[in-house]
Amino acid sequence: MLRDITTQATSKVMKMGITVGVPREAGSGETRVAATPDSVKRLLKCGFDVAIECGAGVAAGFPDRDYEAAGALVVQRSEAWSSHIVTKVAPPKDDEALALRQGSMLVSLLEPFRNESLLENFAQRKIDALALEAIPRTSRAQAMDVLSSQAGIAGYRAVLEAANHYGRFFPMMMTSAGSAKATKVTVLGAGVAGLQAIATARKLGATVEAYDVRPEVKEQIQSLGAKFIEIDIGESGSGQGGYAKELSEESKRKLQSGLDDKLSKSDIIISTANVPGRRAPTLISEDVVAAMRCGSVIVDMATPSGGNCPLSKADQIVEVNGVKIIGHTNYPSMMAADSSSFFARNVVSLLNLFVAPKEGGSTQFLVNLDDDIIEAALVVHQGLFRKKGR
Ligand code: NAD
Repeated sequence: MLRDITTQATSKVMKMGITVGVPREAGSGETRVAATPDSVKRLLKCGFDVAIECGAGVAAGFPDRDYEAAGALVVQRSEAWSSHIVTKVAPPKDDEALALRQGSMLVSLLEPFRNESLLENFAQRKIDALALEAIPRTSRAQAMDVLSSQAGIAGYRAVLEAANHYGRFFPMMMTSAGSAKATKVTVLGAGVAGLQAIATARKLGATVEAYDVRPEVKEQIQSLGAKFIEIDIGESGSGQGGYAKELSEESKRKLQSGLDDKLSKSDIIISTANVPGRRAPTLISEDVVAAMRCGSVIVDMATPSGGNCPLSKADQIVEVNGVKIIGHTNYPSMMAADSSSFFARNVVSLLNLFVAPKEGGSTQFLVNLDDDIIEAALVVHQGLFRKKGR
Protein backbone atom coordinates (compact mmCIF):
# COMPACT_ATOMS: atom_id res chain seq x y z
CA MET A 1 0.00 0.00 0.00
CA LEU A 2 1.34 3.45 -0.86
CA ARG A 3 0.66 6.67 0.95
CA ASP A 4 1.68 10.07 -0.39
CA ILE A 5 2.22 12.55 2.45
CA THR A 6 3.60 15.39 0.36
CA THR A 7 0.26 17.08 0.88
CA GLN A 8 1.16 17.53 4.55
CA ALA A 9 3.86 20.06 3.71
CA THR A 10 4.22 23.15 5.88
CA SER A 11 4.56 26.65 4.48
CA LYS A 12 8.37 26.19 4.20
CA VAL A 13 9.43 25.70 0.60
CA MET A 14 11.42 22.46 0.44
CA LYS A 15 12.13 19.78 -2.14
CA MET A 16 9.63 17.31 -0.66
CA GLY A 17 8.10 19.52 1.96
CA ILE A 18 9.14 17.07 4.66
CA THR A 19 11.15 18.22 7.67
CA VAL A 20 13.17 15.75 9.71
CA GLY A 21 13.31 16.98 13.31
CA VAL A 22 16.18 15.91 15.55
CA PRO A 23 15.63 16.57 19.27
CA ARG A 24 18.33 16.45 21.95
CA GLU A 25 18.33 13.15 23.85
CA ALA A 26 16.94 13.74 27.33
CA GLY A 27 17.80 10.38 28.95
CA SER A 28 20.52 10.38 31.59
CA GLY A 29 23.81 9.07 30.20
CA GLU A 30 22.57 9.22 26.60
CA THR A 31 25.14 11.29 24.71
CA ARG A 32 24.33 10.22 21.18
CA VAL A 33 22.37 12.20 18.60
CA ALA A 34 20.40 10.81 15.65
CA ALA A 35 21.86 13.20 13.04
CA THR A 36 25.34 14.57 12.44
CA PRO A 37 26.44 17.41 10.14
CA ASP A 38 27.41 14.76 7.58
CA SER A 39 24.02 13.02 7.76
CA VAL A 40 22.26 16.39 7.49
CA LYS A 41 23.95 16.95 4.12
CA ARG A 42 22.82 13.49 3.00
CA LEU A 43 19.23 14.09 4.14
CA LEU A 44 19.14 17.38 2.27
CA LYS A 45 20.38 15.59 -0.84
CA CYS A 46 17.52 13.09 -0.48
CA GLY A 47 15.10 16.03 -0.57
CA PHE A 48 14.35 16.41 3.16
CA ASP A 49 14.84 19.50 5.24
CA VAL A 50 16.35 19.15 8.72
CA ALA A 51 15.47 20.97 11.96
CA ILE A 52 17.81 20.17 14.82
CA GLU A 53 17.25 21.22 18.42
CA CYS A 54 19.92 23.66 19.61
CA GLY A 55 22.62 21.79 21.50
CA ALA A 56 21.42 18.36 20.32
CA GLY A 57 24.86 17.26 19.11
CA VAL A 58 27.08 18.92 21.70
CA ALA A 59 27.54 15.83 23.91
CA ALA A 60 28.63 13.86 20.84
CA GLY A 61 31.09 16.56 19.74
CA PHE A 62 28.94 18.24 17.05
CA PRO A 63 28.27 21.93 17.76
CA ASP A 64 25.25 23.82 16.38
CA ARG A 65 27.42 25.83 13.98
CA ASP A 66 28.48 22.61 12.18
CA TYR A 67 24.83 21.64 11.66
CA GLU A 68 24.06 25.13 10.37
CA ALA A 69 27.02 24.98 8.00
CA ALA A 70 25.68 21.64 6.73
CA GLY A 71 22.32 23.25 5.94
CA ALA A 72 20.16 22.37 8.96
CA LEU A 73 17.90 24.80 10.77
CA VAL A 74 18.84 25.01 14.45
CA VAL A 75 15.53 25.32 16.29
CA GLN A 76 13.94 25.25 19.74
CA ARG A 77 12.93 21.90 21.26
CA SER A 78 9.21 22.23 20.50
CA GLU A 79 9.89 22.93 16.83
CA ALA A 80 12.13 19.88 16.44
CA TRP A 81 9.40 17.71 18.01
CA SER A 82 6.65 19.11 15.79
CA SER A 83 8.40 18.12 12.53
CA HIS A 84 6.84 15.74 10.00
CA ILE A 85 9.41 13.10 10.84
CA VAL A 86 11.19 13.01 14.20
CA THR A 87 14.30 10.88 14.58
CA LYS A 88 16.03 10.15 17.85
CA VAL A 89 18.12 7.46 19.49
CA ALA A 90 16.28 6.27 22.62
CA PRO A 91 12.52 5.64 22.98
CA PRO A 92 10.69 8.89 23.81
CA LYS A 93 9.75 9.79 27.36
CA ASP A 94 6.06 10.47 28.07
CA ASP A 95 6.31 14.27 27.67
CA GLU A 96 8.31 13.84 24.46
CA ALA A 97 5.72 11.45 23.01
CA LEU A 98 3.03 14.08 23.71
CA ALA A 99 5.02 16.64 21.72
CA LEU A 100 4.68 14.62 18.51
CA ARG A 101 1.95 15.92 16.26
CA GLN A 102 -0.81 13.96 14.58
CA GLY A 103 0.20 12.61 11.15
CA SER A 104 3.91 12.66 11.94
CA MET A 105 6.33 9.74 12.00
CA LEU A 106 8.80 8.78 14.73
CA VAL A 107 12.00 6.95 13.72
CA SER A 108 13.78 5.66 16.80
CA LEU A 109 14.74 2.69 18.91
CA LEU A 110 11.36 1.92 20.50
CA GLU A 111 11.71 -1.38 22.36
CA PRO A 112 8.31 -2.39 20.90
CA PHE A 113 7.87 -5.40 23.23
CA ARG A 114 8.26 -3.23 26.35
CA ASN A 115 6.42 -0.17 25.09
CA GLU A 116 3.09 -1.51 23.87
CA SER A 117 1.00 1.19 25.58
CA LEU A 118 3.12 3.92 23.99
CA LEU A 119 2.59 2.38 20.57
CA GLU A 120 -1.15 1.99 21.20
CA ASN A 121 -1.18 5.69 22.07
CA PHE A 122 0.61 6.54 18.80
CA ALA A 123 -1.96 4.50 16.91
CA GLN A 124 -4.82 6.44 18.55
CA ARG A 125 -3.14 9.74 17.71
CA LYS A 126 -2.38 8.67 14.10
CA ILE A 127 1.38 8.92 14.59
CA ASP A 128 3.41 6.43 12.56
CA ALA A 129 6.30 4.73 14.34
CA LEU A 130 9.35 3.03 12.84
CA ALA A 131 11.11 0.83 15.40
CA LEU A 132 14.75 0.61 14.43
CA GLU A 133 15.22 -2.68 16.29
CA ALA A 134 12.53 -4.26 14.08
CA ILE A 135 14.59 -3.82 10.90
CA PRO A 136 15.29 -7.33 9.53
CA ARG A 137 18.88 -8.62 9.97
CA THR A 138 19.34 -9.19 6.23
CA SER A 139 22.13 -8.23 3.85
CA ARG A 140 19.92 -5.62 2.14
CA ALA A 141 19.10 -3.99 5.48
CA GLN A 142 22.69 -3.90 6.71
CA ALA A 143 23.13 -0.20 5.90
CA MET A 144 20.13 0.58 8.18
CA ASP A 145 20.92 -1.90 10.95
CA VAL A 146 21.30 0.25 14.03
CA LEU A 147 21.51 -2.79 16.32
CA SER A 148 24.60 -3.98 14.46
CA SER A 149 26.31 -0.61 14.14
CA GLN A 150 25.88 0.11 17.84
CA ALA A 151 26.66 -3.45 19.00
CA GLY A 152 29.96 -3.38 17.10
CA ILE A 153 30.97 -0.21 18.91
CA ALA A 154 29.81 -1.67 22.23
CA GLY A 155 31.88 -4.83 21.75
CA TYR A 156 34.98 -2.77 21.06
CA ARG A 157 34.41 -0.42 23.97
CA ALA A 158 33.67 -3.26 26.39
CA VAL A 159 37.13 -4.72 25.81
CA LEU A 160 38.76 -1.32 26.40
CA GLU A 161 36.75 -1.05 29.61
CA ALA A 162 38.01 -4.48 30.71
CA ALA A 163 41.61 -3.54 29.87
CA ASN A 164 41.23 -0.33 31.83
CA HIS A 165 40.14 -2.19 34.96
CA TYR A 166 42.63 -5.05 34.60
CA GLY A 167 45.98 -4.53 36.25
CA ARG A 168 48.00 -6.56 33.77
CA PHE A 169 49.14 -6.55 30.14
CA PHE A 170 46.96 -8.13 27.44
CA PRO A 171 49.87 -9.39 25.27
CA MET A 172 52.69 -11.60 26.42
CA MET A 173 55.54 -9.28 27.42
CA MET A 174 59.21 -10.08 27.90
CA THR A 175 61.24 -7.27 29.36
CA SER A 176 64.50 -6.94 31.28
CA ALA A 177 62.38 -6.40 34.38
CA GLY A 178 60.52 -9.66 33.94
CA SER A 179 57.87 -11.21 31.73
CA ALA A 180 54.07 -11.25 31.68
CA LYS A 181 51.80 -13.98 30.32
CA ALA A 182 49.16 -13.16 27.69
CA THR A 183 45.76 -12.44 29.23
CA LYS A 184 43.13 -15.17 28.81
CA VAL A 185 39.90 -13.61 27.54
CA THR A 186 36.69 -15.62 27.20
CA VAL A 187 33.85 -14.19 25.14
CA LEU A 188 30.35 -15.57 25.67
CA GLY A 189 27.97 -15.01 22.77
CA ALA A 190 29.43 -14.35 19.34
CA GLY A 191 26.83 -12.08 17.75
CA VAL A 192 27.85 -8.65 16.49
CA ALA A 193 29.17 -7.37 19.86
CA GLY A 194 30.87 -10.64 20.74
CA LEU A 195 32.70 -10.91 17.42
CA GLN A 196 33.92 -7.33 17.72
CA ALA A 197 35.03 -8.04 21.29
CA ILE A 198 37.01 -11.06 20.06
CA ALA A 199 38.66 -9.01 17.30
CA THR A 200 39.54 -6.19 19.72
CA ALA A 201 40.94 -8.49 22.43
CA ARG A 202 43.03 -10.28 19.77
CA LYS A 203 44.35 -6.95 18.45
CA LEU A 204 45.40 -6.05 21.98
CA GLY A 205 47.34 -9.33 22.15
CA ALA A 206 45.16 -11.50 24.40
CA THR A 207 44.57 -15.22 23.99
CA VAL A 208 40.85 -15.54 23.23
CA GLU A 209 38.33 -18.35 23.53
CA ALA A 210 34.66 -17.94 22.73
CA TYR A 211 31.40 -19.82 23.00
CA ASP A 212 27.99 -19.41 21.38
CA VAL A 213 24.96 -21.71 21.40
CA ARG A 214 24.65 -21.24 17.65
CA PRO A 215 27.15 -23.74 16.20
CA GLU A 216 27.29 -21.86 12.88
CA VAL A 217 29.43 -19.10 14.42
CA LYS A 218 32.35 -21.47 15.08
CA GLU A 219 34.04 -20.54 11.79
CA GLN A 220 33.59 -16.82 12.40
CA ILE A 221 35.18 -17.14 15.84
CA GLN A 222 38.10 -19.11 14.42
CA SER A 223 38.59 -16.67 11.53
CA LEU A 224 39.26 -13.94 14.12
CA GLY A 225 42.04 -15.99 15.69
CA ALA A 226 40.09 -17.25 18.70
CA LYS A 227 39.40 -20.81 19.85
CA PHE A 228 35.80 -22.04 19.77
CA ILE A 229 34.78 -23.72 23.03
CA GLU A 230 33.07 -27.00 22.09
CA ILE A 231 30.31 -28.09 24.48
CA ASP A 232 27.80 -30.83 23.68
CA ILE A 233 24.52 -29.48 25.07
CA GLY A 234 22.37 -32.01 23.21
CA GLU A 235 20.60 -29.50 20.94
CA SER A 236 21.34 -26.57 18.61
CA GLY A 237 20.73 -23.17 20.17
CA SER A 238 19.82 -21.61 16.81
CA GLY A 239 16.34 -20.11 16.70
CA GLN A 240 14.34 -18.03 14.23
CA GLY A 241 15.87 -15.28 12.10
CA GLY A 242 19.48 -16.22 12.94
CA TYR A 243 18.93 -15.49 16.65
CA ALA A 244 19.44 -17.87 19.57
CA LYS A 245 16.51 -19.67 21.18
CA GLU A 246 15.76 -20.41 24.83
CA LEU A 247 17.45 -23.70 25.82
CA SER A 248 15.78 -26.60 27.66
CA GLU A 249 16.62 -26.96 31.39
CA GLU A 250 18.69 -30.07 30.61
CA SER A 251 20.75 -28.21 27.96
CA LYS A 252 21.24 -25.28 30.35
CA ARG A 253 22.69 -27.69 32.94
CA LYS A 254 25.04 -29.26 30.37
CA LEU A 255 26.13 -25.83 29.20
CA GLN A 256 26.82 -24.62 32.72
CA SER A 257 28.94 -27.63 33.64
CA GLY A 258 30.84 -27.36 30.33
CA LEU A 259 31.59 -23.67 30.86
CA ASP A 260 32.33 -23.42 34.60
CA ASP A 261 35.92 -24.66 34.51
CA LYS A 262 36.88 -22.50 31.48
CA LEU A 263 35.30 -19.41 32.98
CA SER A 264 36.88 -19.77 36.41
CA LYS A 265 40.33 -19.90 34.74
CA SER A 266 39.70 -16.79 32.61
CA ASP A 267 41.35 -13.46 33.42
CA ILE A 268 38.65 -11.53 31.61
CA ILE A 269 35.15 -12.53 30.57
CA ILE A 270 33.18 -10.45 28.08
CA SER A 271 29.64 -11.78 28.07
CA THR A 272 27.12 -10.76 25.43
CA ALA A 273 24.67 -13.69 25.41
CA ASN A 274 21.08 -12.69 24.67
CA VAL A 275 17.88 -14.33 23.49
CA PRO A 276 15.50 -11.77 21.90
CA GLY A 277 12.50 -10.91 24.05
CA ARG A 278 13.73 -13.02 27.01
CA ARG A 279 15.80 -12.54 30.12
CA ALA A 280 19.50 -13.03 29.34
CA PRO A 281 20.73 -16.57 30.15
CA THR A 282 22.73 -17.01 33.37
CA LEU A 283 26.17 -18.28 32.33
CA ILE A 284 28.58 -16.95 34.99
CA SER A 285 27.47 -18.30 38.36
CA GLU A 286 28.44 -16.91 41.76
CA ASP A 287 30.60 -20.03 42.24
CA VAL A 288 32.52 -19.20 39.06
CA VAL A 289 33.10 -15.63 40.27
CA ALA A 290 34.32 -16.98 43.63
CA ALA A 291 36.77 -19.30 41.82
CA MET A 292 38.23 -16.58 39.56
CA ARG A 293 41.62 -15.10 40.33
CA CYS A 294 41.69 -11.84 42.28
CA GLY A 295 42.07 -8.96 39.79
CA SER A 296 40.01 -10.66 37.08
CA VAL A 297 37.36 -8.65 35.26
CA ILE A 298 33.90 -9.56 33.97
CA VAL A 299 32.18 -7.21 31.54
CA ASP A 300 28.54 -8.27 31.50
CA MET A 301 27.17 -6.66 28.36
CA ALA A 302 23.84 -8.44 28.86
CA THR A 303 23.14 -6.39 32.01
CA PRO A 304 20.28 -4.42 30.34
CA SER A 305 18.39 -7.69 29.78
CA GLY A 306 19.04 -9.13 33.25
CA GLY A 307 22.72 -10.04 32.94
CA ASN A 308 24.70 -13.21 32.20
CA CYS A 309 26.03 -13.00 35.77
CA PRO A 310 23.58 -12.73 38.69
CA LEU A 311 25.99 -10.35 40.49
CA SER A 312 25.94 -7.66 37.76
CA LYS A 313 24.29 -4.35 38.62
CA ALA A 314 23.14 -1.86 36.00
CA ASP A 315 25.61 1.00 35.51
CA GLN A 316 27.75 -0.11 38.43
CA ILE A 317 31.08 -1.82 38.91
CA VAL A 318 30.66 -4.44 41.61
CA GLU A 319 33.72 -6.01 43.26
CA VAL A 320 33.37 -9.54 44.68
CA ASN A 321 36.46 -11.24 46.19
CA GLY A 322 38.67 -8.95 44.11
CA VAL A 323 36.82 -9.71 40.84
CA LYS A 324 35.34 -6.65 39.14
CA ILE A 325 31.97 -7.07 37.45
CA ILE A 326 31.18 -4.22 35.08
CA GLY A 327 27.50 -3.61 34.32
CA HIS A 328 27.47 -0.54 32.07
CA THR A 329 24.32 -0.41 29.97
CA ASN A 330 25.21 2.10 27.27
CA TYR A 331 28.64 1.50 25.74
CA PRO A 332 27.85 3.36 22.48
CA SER A 333 27.31 6.56 24.51
CA MET A 334 30.91 6.24 25.72
CA MET A 335 31.97 6.73 22.09
CA ALA A 336 29.25 9.17 21.11
CA ALA A 337 30.95 10.73 18.08
CA ASP A 338 31.38 7.49 16.15
CA SER A 339 28.23 5.84 17.43
CA SER A 340 26.18 8.91 16.45
CA SER A 341 27.83 8.98 13.02
CA PHE A 342 26.99 5.32 12.41
CA PHE A 343 23.47 5.68 13.84
CA ALA A 344 22.82 8.77 11.71
CA ARG A 345 24.05 7.04 8.53
CA ASN A 346 21.71 4.12 9.32
CA VAL A 347 18.79 6.57 9.64
CA VAL A 348 19.64 8.25 6.31
CA SER A 349 19.71 4.87 4.55
CA LEU A 350 16.35 3.98 6.08
CA LEU A 351 14.66 7.29 5.22
CA ASN A 352 16.04 7.03 1.70
CA LEU A 353 13.82 3.95 1.25
CA PHE A 354 10.80 6.26 1.47
CA VAL A 355 11.97 8.61 -1.28
CA ALA A 356 10.31 7.74 -4.57
CA PRO A 357 10.45 9.46 -7.96
CA LYS A 358 7.45 11.51 -9.05
CA GLU A 359 6.31 12.48 -12.51
CA GLY A 360 8.20 15.54 -13.74
CA GLY A 361 11.50 14.51 -12.14
CA SER A 362 10.77 15.51 -8.55
CA THR A 363 10.56 13.13 -5.59
CA GLN A 364 7.93 12.28 -3.01
CA PHE A 365 7.75 10.56 0.36
CA LEU A 366 6.01 7.19 -0.04
CA VAL A 367 5.27 4.47 2.48
CA ASN A 368 5.65 1.26 0.47
CA LEU A 369 4.53 -1.66 2.59
CA ASP A 370 5.63 -4.06 -0.15
CA ASP A 371 9.20 -3.26 0.91
CA ASP A 372 10.11 -5.92 3.50
CA ILE A 373 12.23 -3.52 5.56
CA ILE A 374 9.48 -0.89 5.81
CA GLU A 375 6.88 -3.58 6.43
CA ALA A 376 8.89 -5.01 9.32
CA ALA A 377 9.97 -1.76 10.96
CA LEU A 378 6.74 0.25 10.68
CA VAL A 379 5.15 -0.89 13.94
CA VAL A 380 2.43 1.78 13.92
CA HIS A 381 0.85 2.90 10.66
CA GLN A 382 -2.34 4.77 9.80
CA GLY A 383 -3.78 4.38 13.28
CA LEU A 384 -2.95 0.68 13.60
CA PHE A 385 -0.47 -0.89 16.04
CA ARG A 386 0.95 -3.63 13.84
CA LYS A 387 2.01 -6.07 16.59
CA LYS A 388 4.79 -8.40 15.54
CA GLY A 389 5.60 -11.76 17.12
CA ARG A 390 8.72 -12.05 19.26
P1 NAD B 1 22.08 -10.98 20.24
O1 NAD B 1 22.49 -9.71 20.86
O2 NAD B 1 20.63 -11.31 20.15
O3 NAD B 1 22.77 -12.19 21.05
C1 NAD B 1 24.18 -12.20 21.21
C2 NAD B 1 24.67 -13.62 21.04
O4 NAD B 1 24.35 -14.41 22.20
C3 NAD B 1 24.09 -14.37 19.85
O5 NAD B 1 25.14 -14.73 18.97
C4 NAD B 1 23.42 -15.58 20.50
O6 NAD B 1 23.51 -16.75 19.69
C5 NAD B 1 24.23 -15.73 21.77
N1 NAD B 1 23.61 -16.55 22.83
C6 NAD B 1 22.32 -16.61 23.22
N2 NAD B 1 22.16 -17.49 24.23
C7 NAD B 1 23.39 -17.96 24.53
C8 NAD B 1 23.89 -18.88 25.48
N3 NAD B 1 23.07 -19.50 26.34
N4 NAD B 1 25.22 -19.15 25.49
C9 NAD B 1 26.04 -18.53 24.61
N5 NAD B 1 25.64 -17.65 23.67
C10 NAD B 1 24.32 -17.37 23.63
O7 NAD B 1 22.75 -11.18 18.80
P2 NAD B 1 23.06 -10.11 17.66
O8 NAD B 1 24.45 -9.64 17.77
O9 NAD B 1 21.97 -9.09 17.62
O10 NAD B 1 22.98 -11.04 16.35
C11 NAD B 1 21.85 -11.86 16.15
C12 NAD B 1 21.94 -12.56 14.83
O11 NAD B 1 21.74 -11.68 13.75
C13 NAD B 1 23.24 -13.25 14.56
O12 NAD B 1 22.97 -14.46 13.91
C14 NAD B 1 23.90 -12.35 13.60
O13 NAD B 1 24.89 -13.00 12.83
C15 NAD B 1 22.73 -11.93 12.78
N6 NAD B 1 22.99 -10.70 12.02
C16 NAD B 1 22.90 -10.76 10.66
C17 NAD B 1 23.16 -9.63 9.91
C18 NAD B 1 23.08 -9.67 8.41
O14 NAD B 1 23.31 -8.72 7.76
N7 NAD B 1 22.77 -10.78 7.80
C19 NAD B 1 23.48 -8.45 10.53
C20 NAD B 1 23.52 -8.41 11.93
C21 NAD B 1 23.27 -9.56 12.66
